[in-house]
Amino acid sequence: MADGLTTPASTSSTARPLAWRRATVTRIVQETPRVRTIVFDVPEWPGHRAGQHVDVRLTAEDGYQTERSYSIASPPEDARISLTIERLEDGEVSSYLVGELRVGDTIELRGPIGGHFVWDFSDGGPLVLVGGGSGIVPLMAMLRHRALASADVQRALPARLLYSSREWSEVIYRDELARLAADDPTLRIVHTITRKPPLGWTGFRRRIDRAMLEAFAGTAAERPRLFVCGPTPLVESVADTLVTLTYDPATIRTERFGPTGGT
Ligand SMILES: Cc1cc2nc3c(=O)[nH]c(=O)nc-3n(C[C@H](O)[C@H](O)[C@H](O)COP(=O)(O)OP(=O)(O)OC[C@H]3O[C@@H](n4cnc5c(N)ncnc54)[C@H](O)[C@@H]3O)c2cc1C
Repeated sequence: MADGLTTPASTSSTARPLAWRRATVTRIVQETPRVRTIVFDVPEWPGHRAGQHVDVRLTAEDGYQTERSYSIASPPEDARISLTIERLEDGEVSSYLVGELRVGDTIELRGPIGGHFVWDFSDGGPLVLVGGGSGIVPLMAMLRHRALASADVQRALPARLLYSSREWSEVIYRDELARLAADDPTLRIVHTITRKPPLGWTGFRRRIDRAMLEAFAGTAAERPRLFVCGPTPLVESVADTLVTLTYDPATIRTERFGPTGGT
């Protein structure tokens, strides 16, 4: 179990505060019209676990500072840190990161942070991931981490992802997810597209609900490791439903990204 494990970012009362580090943008990938992945070079990065996040701090010329949290999209095996950020209408920080930041620019970040919403091979499986919108980001770090394991390890740790997006064009990492599933019979990926599915779509077209989870998550007796991430209402509704479906609450990990319920 992930609970109680010591991590590089463990924040016990005796731990020293994490240092702010200067991170340089080395690459930018446009994932969807509103979402970009930004790859950073972070000197002396201490390493991270799949599922952890960083705090990003921006400082204006007049000294005004503001901070936000962003999950790490890259797996622990990567030397560079990738963040995948969705630009929100009027979003103070996301607008800057997605709209203004260029290759060669620097920002400050600190981390890695979080010892609860993390998974690695030794935590076991099956792995059941449920995400909405940009909530896919820490789940993707887990899938990327798992994809780097041997075929034997992957067989021993089957994984499923149920991913809710508003539109097909807003599905983050769409091609990479398709490739991962095509290469790996022990990985099952199910999309639900709540507002604008593509022409001819035969999959789910509604918000994640009890029937969907029942069909998707496998039996509680398998004691899967469950990770749920996305907008707060989605996370709360999925976690509550999983408990009523008799999954052990101790095996359900949640990460809430923010206030809206758009996915
Ligand atoms: C642990 C953690 C990890 C996160 N990881 C990611 C990530 O990988 N990628 C990512 O894009 N975001 C992530 N977030 C959300 C991120 O921290 C910011 O909340 C988000 O980018 C909005 O910041 P902003 O300054 O642009 O918006 P603000 O200026 O703070 O808010 C603008 C408007 O958007 C609303 N809003 C604020 N946050 C959200 C949200 N998350 N969803 C919808 N509406 C919101 C506000 O109520 C307000 O109306 C994470 C949050 C947490 C707590």
